[in-house]
Amino acid sequence: MIHQHDVILIGGGLTGLRAALQIKEAGLDGAVISKVHPLRSHSVAAQGGMNASLGNVEGEGGIKDSWQNHAYDTVKGSDYLADQDAVELMCREAPRTVIELEHMGMVWSRLENGKIAQRPFGGAGFPRTCYAADRTGHNALHTLYENMVGREIPVYEEFYLTSLVIDEGRCVGCTALEIVTGEVHGFQARAVLLATGGFGRIYDRSTNALINTGEGTSLALEAGAQLKDMEFVQFHPTTLYGTNILITEGARGEGGILLNKDGKRFMEGYAPRTRDLAARDVISRAMEQEIAEGRAYPGGYLYLDLRHLGPDKIKERLPGIRQIAMDFAGVDPIEEKIPVQPGQHYSMGGVDVDMGGATSIPGLYAAGECACISVHGANRLGGNSLLETVVFGRLVADRIIEDVYSINFTEKEPIKTAMINMDIKIGNILSREEGEHLFQIREAMTRTMSQGFGILREKQDMQENLQEIKKLQKQLPLVSIQNSKRELNQALVRFLELEGMLLLSEAVARSAIAREESRGSHFRTDYPERDDINFLKHTLIDLKDDEMRVSYKPVKLGMFEPEERVY
Ligand SMILES: Cc1cc2nc3c(=O)[nH]c(=O)nc-3n(C[C@H](O)[C@H](O)[C@H](O)COP(=O)(O)OP(=O)(O)OC[C@H]3O[C@@H](n4cnc5c(N)ncnc54)[C@H](O)[C@@H]3O)c2cc1C
Repeated sequence: MIHQHDVILIGGGLTGLRAALQIKEAGLDGAVISKVHPLRSHSVAAQGGMNASLGNVEGEGGIKDSWQNHAYDTVKGSDYLADQDAVELMCREAPRTVIELEHMGMVWSRLENGKIAQRPFGGAGFPRTCYAADRTGHNALHTLYENMVGREIPVYEEFYLTSLVIDEGRCVGCTALEIVTGEVHGFQARAVLLATGGFGRIYDRSTNALINTGEGTSLALEAGAQLKDMEFVQFHPTTLYGTNILITEGARGEGGILLNKDGKRFMEGYAPRTRDLAARDVISRAMEQEIAEGRAYPGGYLYLDLRHLGPDKIKERLPGIRQIAMDFAGVDPIEEKIPVQPGQHYSMGGVDVDMGGATSIPGLYAAGECACISVHGANRLGGNSLLETVVFGRLVADRIIEDVYSINFTEKEPIKTAMINMDIKIGNILSREEGEHLFQIREAMTRTMSQGFGILREKQDMQENLQEIKKLQKQLPLVSIQNSKRELNQALVRFLELEGMLLLSEAVARSAIAREESRGSHFRTDYPERDDINFLKHTLIDLKDDEMRVSYKPVKLGMFEPEERVY
């Protein structure tokens, strides 16, 4: 079956839904495709908050926040790799975006004077993070979804994007597998927006939902778009030991502290000024060092102590964190310390796009975590990602609205051909009766990525682990998923996911090996210094004839010249 819509939005998270509302507002026919119900999108799990320089809480010395302060912190936090025009746009738009969400019905936490509450977050010079207790993503996503339902925007739920259709160099639609029936559908569109989120699940210890496997990013690469800054993978310092569920930075924003096994507040030694609220890359590396030097608990964890905050504050501002700690670690943070370790958290890299979200393929756009616009550079500040999703969800939709008026639907033939090819490919996967085990390959990939491309990286080690990824890529076509049914075949979905994840793993690996310096989340033990002379530039990856190629393009500076980061 071929469906036709002006705009296809792939992704039902904050980015996809915000864009869908904008498209509808403009009178266009936009439809959302999502591999899960939109409310199960990963955005729903976001905890700590969204940054905006509302200035509702004054900084040190009674100084009020401004968008310029927000931009400065973002650029500095990015280790100067963010494009400063994009940062300026995001920070200027932030206050309006928070208020806009409020007007759509979002419930924010409040100060006693009734204004929207703001809390300190890592790497920020002011209490800037607006929040809804520790369930900000939940409140935001439900708000947008309720608005969507009211406007009757079509949603293809549990449809899995399988390919982007390119005809004469232009993206004219996509194919998707209807998971329930196993049928391949075609979608014809005048523009396609990728809003498919991050790819954190290429690592074994991750705060990301199991669905964060990055198909939008890998399929864009296969379709001919470029990926940018893939080596920059963020590791969050406080994930719950054992399950790696996130313990929000908001917990440290409220006053929580990190302790090693000697009971020492070790961040005082690594970042004397910002301590437990240093940027994430700084704290994760410090924790890694504490673990390596034997000052952590057996198994490799440290403690996050919230006890001094008292029961009232914990219950009011961090109820979700308390519940997670009790349910998954058996500790009540009111009385006990929480065992934590760093875990993969965010993908700074993604599809290379301009400020309007346009990729190098006409008709194909990307926004949110799957894209690299680049507002986070080498290291994202907490609270800036939720902001990015809603700001650029709207702005990229505006760009699409402008562009599509001059574009007509083309012939259906390319969509039909893509559907037939996908059907044959799926048939082949289902019919293989014997072969390698899918989950062994997936586990080997996540282990390899954590070993070679984690917090600390070194050339030889990375090269060996890249070879392992290449080996796994060769094994994948030999896999038998042991389930030949078309309907509700989750093994088939896992197979298709893994194909893309292995491609993204290689992109991370090649980008990391090529960047011979340390910047933000990318720390090379063999090149421990930042090298602005040779590497103040974005890494690009493209794929031609099955070969990945690394190239570079300049970073857009402007407001702030690179300076040394002082913690
Ligand atoms: C635990 C956690 C807490 C966080 N807390 C914060 C926070 O407090 N503040 C902050 O700023 N950031 C936070 N982040 C980051 C932030 O939540 C994410 O970056 C952001 O929500 C991503 O939104 P998105 O719209 O880009 O993608 P997502 O919300 O991940 O949505 C992706 C969508 O794409 C769809 N999709 C993916 N692949 C396919 C496919 N093949 N076919 C069809 N559909 C597909 C999915 O179904 C989904 O609907 C947190 C991240 C984590 C992991």
